[in-house]
Amino acid sequence: METVSYKCINCDAPLQFDPKQQKFVCEFCRSEFAETELADYFSKLEKKLDQEHKKEPEQVSDDDFSSYAAVYVCQSCGAEVITEKNTAATFCVFCHNPVMISNRMAGNFKPNRVIPFMISEQDAKQKFLDFCAKKKFLPKDFVSGAQLDMMKGVYYPYWLVDSLKIGGIRATAKKKRTWREGDFEFEETKIYRVIRNGTIDFRDYPHTALKSDENLKALKYVNPYDDKDYRPFMMSYLSGFLAEKRDLERQDVQNEVDNELADYAKRIYSDSISGYDSVSIDDMRLSTRRESWDYALLPVWLMTFDYNGQKYLYAMNGQTGKNFGELPIDKKKLAAFGIGMFIGLLLICLLGGYFLL
Ligand SMILES: [Zn+2]
Ligand SMILES: [Zn+2]
Repeated sequence: METVSYKCINCDAPLQFDPKQQKFVCEFCRSEFAETELADYFSKLEKKLDQEHKKEPEQVSDDDFSSYAAVYVCQSCGAEVITEKNTAATFCVFCHNPVMISNRMAGNFKPNRVIPFMISEQDAKQKFLDFCAKKKFLPKDFVSGAQLDMMKGVYYPYWLVDSLKIGGIRATAKKKRTWREGDFEFEETKIYRVIRNGTIDFRDYPHTALKSDENLKALKYVNPYDDKDYRPFMMSYLSGFLAEKRDLERQDVQNEVDNELADYAKRIYSDSISGYDSVSIDDMRLSTRRESWDYALLPVWLMTFDYNGQKYLYAMNGQTGKNFGELPIDKKKLAAFGIGMFIGLLLICLLGGYFLL
């Protein structure tokens, strides 16, 4: 006996053949299809997907990457940074330790894509100075030439996920109506079963490829990046810059990404339901039709500093210039400000006659 198992075009649920209608019926979303319709749809879809997901030819091979890249390891904090062979890492950008040990780089760390730095070193330093100028309580000696030299262009590693999902939700929705007739109040509740389904094509969904560390905290504030500037990776993008070596592999984050995309999908399906007084989602189906992962580097201007034994951090998105900084505060300046405020308040209160002494 020949069995062809088809899945629903609208939601990917398994289809049942209904002999009476001579049609395939979806149990989940109740769609109906003729066999010719299904065969035709799936052969066209496969062709379309193959074309869309054809990858660009590789720019840099794994071997090229391992011979042109060097990895530096900080003996003090353990940070690992990658750079192009001719760019020496002379000090650790994270802890300022001067000793960096150079190792050979494995080819499987080769990125596929990169957003190059769009903000020059000079502009980044100027932006940092502008940022500091707005901080009233910054210690006087804080912004120096030596401090500015600590600014480094660092690429952060990300996974970029393309995922084509198909599925749907089933929900129970209610509409309520109340009215009076004489002495009686009537209430009517209509209950609907609502079904929404379809394909969702996630492109370049980013997920960090670094285990949470101190510096990641700042990245949250300089996100997001604009996808329009992704380029195929070439060694020359690393020249003069550092890249943090990823320490999360695809299998480490696959579950997390699946859950995040499922949350988005649920929201997308349920946002399309409107016109009811209440909606509750009963169930969702979601399957992955195609998925591909790229490894990408995203640019950050980074400055870390030790001031009176404490660590501070300034970070700037290397594409958009969005910045974030925790800077030291001069306690004396702050105290002087505090007294000024107090006197100011006292004067205002006195003028207003609030002091009932
Ligand atoms: Zn269906
Ligand atoms: Zn270090």
